[in-house]
Amino acid sequence: MPPLNATMHARSSTWTRDLHDIVEAMAPLGRAREALATVMSRSAPELDEAADRLLAGASTDEEGAEVPFIGAALQVYFGRLAATLQVEDLEQCDVPTLCPVCGSRPVASVVRAVGSKAGLRYLVCGLCATEWNLPRIKCSYCEEDRGLQYFGLEAAEARIGSASWRAEACDECRTYLKIFYQDKDPQADPVADDLASLVLDMLLDERGYSRSGPNFLFHPGTG
Ligand SMILES: [Zn+2]
Ligand SMILES: [Zn+2]
Repeated sequence: MPPLNATMHARSSTWTRDLHDIVEAMAPLGRAREALATVMSRSAPELDEAADRLLAGASTDEEGAEVPFIGAALQVYFGRLAATLQVEDLEQCDVPTLCPVCGSRPVASVVRAVGSKAGLRYLVCGLCATEWNLPRIKCSYCEEDRGLQYFGLEAAEARIGSASWRAEACDECRTYLKIFYQDKDPQADPVADDLASLVLDMLLDERGYSRSGPNFLFHPGTG
């Protein structure tokens, strides 16, 4: 079992303090005022239930507007705990496509550009931000290495000003995950740029592929 198994881990109340910090930082911006007010009105048990649903991929449409704030607080909480672990203490999960720290699915993968790891592909945990190696040209869900296809979107690339990302889609399990190439964009942020390229998700959806890993800052249907 990974040391911080996301769905089993007994969270301390620290995560709700993180949540309130985020809400307080957002409030002066005046954005998403209604969602922020709703988050602040929730009791701690209600917030924990919403967090459990988010981690289980079962958030309701009614709480969709609150998901980005709850997700951001959980990322802070799990990322901070993950940073206290030593690499030597970690083992790969039985399923090598799951995060070795918290057992979550990756939000995206990155191909590194510099140093001894240049050219290697790392999966990026959508919850605790741990990165772990998975060979390229291999499905990040079913590990099959046949039937992979890479989709880009010329119009979207022009809009975002970069050709640094693609969707890696698998015809065996019909899932996809985005892959970011740091040699084309060293600043690529797998979580933020995943949200910035939602138009590619729509294309893949039209082609009958499903996302293999969630972005905890986004509730499908609220975009
Ligand atoms: Zn993780
Ligand atoms: Zn697959």
